[in-house]
Amino acid sequence: MAVVFSGVQPSGTLTLGNYLGAIKHFVDYQEEEESYFCIVNQHAITVPQDPKQLRDNTRSLAALYLAVGLDPKKTTLFVQSEVAEHAQLAWVMQTISYVGELERMTQFKEKAQNRGESIPAGLLTYPPLMAADMLLYKTTDVPVGDDQKQHIEITRDLAGRFNHRFGELFPLPKMRTPKVGARIMSLQDPTKKMSKSDANQNATIRLLDSEKDILKKLKRAQTDSDNTIRFDKENKPGVSNLLAIHSLCTGKTTEQLEQEYMGKGYGHLKVDTAEAVIEILRPIQARYNELISTSELDLILDEGAAKAREVASRTMKEVEHAMGLRR
Ligand code: ATP
Ligand code: MG
Repeated sequence: MAVVFSGVQPSGTLTLGNYLGAIKHFVDYQEEEESYFCIVNQHAITVPQDPKQLRDNTRSLAALYLAVGLDPKKTTLFVQSEVAEHAQLAWVMQTISYVGELERMTQFKEKAQNRGESIPAGLLTYPPLMAADMLLYKTTDVPVGDDQKQHIEITRDLAGRFNHRFGELFPLPKMRTPKVGARIMSLQDPTKKMSKSDANQNATIRLLDSEKDILKKLKRAQTDSDNTIRFDKENKPGVSNLLAIHSLCTGKTTEQLEQEYMGKGYGHLKVDTAEAVIEILRPIQARYNELISTSELDLILDEGAAKAREVASRTMKEVEHAMGLRR
């Protein structure tokens, strides 16, 4: 039986990258027998967060999960910190992790950059927490963007290591990435992925951006000076990113788009891409606005946490038994 788990950090308003790479696909996976979609706020606090902002972002992410089509009747939606077993199993996973393997993580190296002596230890121990998220539910399938490859690999290593030392308990989760859209690039530096915690607002399209801002940001997107519209990630990362976004929002292939824009300038591509994005986001924003101030949202998260806790506490007991932590 497939068990699906994925999480998103409430570290800012979701970007088009989060949507196209991950949460758009969650809706298909909720049809599986068992699925969990989590708001991973304990991951978010591995870098400093303003408490009020964090609370607002958590609520906003819950509303966005529902607005893209997640249905609490089919899936379990919950907040990580409300299920204490995440932190409990994370500790166990830390005890079987090696500092060397954690230090080699690309995300750690990137997020620890320019912090001097003040690198939060939680940034280093992020992967064992993420492993705990998945393993608590005996997850088999993890729909995520391309950037999570290393984190899934270390989760598989940790699960295998645990099974080897303490007895077979965890399946090794498999990463599920979309064929296209698994890595949407920053609009300002198309060699970097688009990230919701990017301080440069022009670099990201946010799912809640106004139509005016979407157009403005796409018009300002970095391209190149060769002025031909061609899908070539190596040599033309900016233009290729726009073509990928356009393609994902309209369903046209990048080859079709190359034909369509032959002899046209970047300006055309940017304006049309903006229109395509606006069309995709319009119904999501409308549903979001209906949901954001309802108390239904809290009820859904309360019920989700209760459902998750049942499974998580069962697994945690098994883990503690296996390790000799219970009398
Ligand atoms: P942060 O900058 O705070 O790390 P983020 O944008 O990387 O934010 P996460 O919460 O870390 O978002 O990741 C949520 C999901 O979105 C993950 O499945 C991740 O793989 C996916 N994702 C993140 N950025 C992109 C991107 N640029 N393209 C495709 N998928 C992405
Ligand atoms: Mg991230």
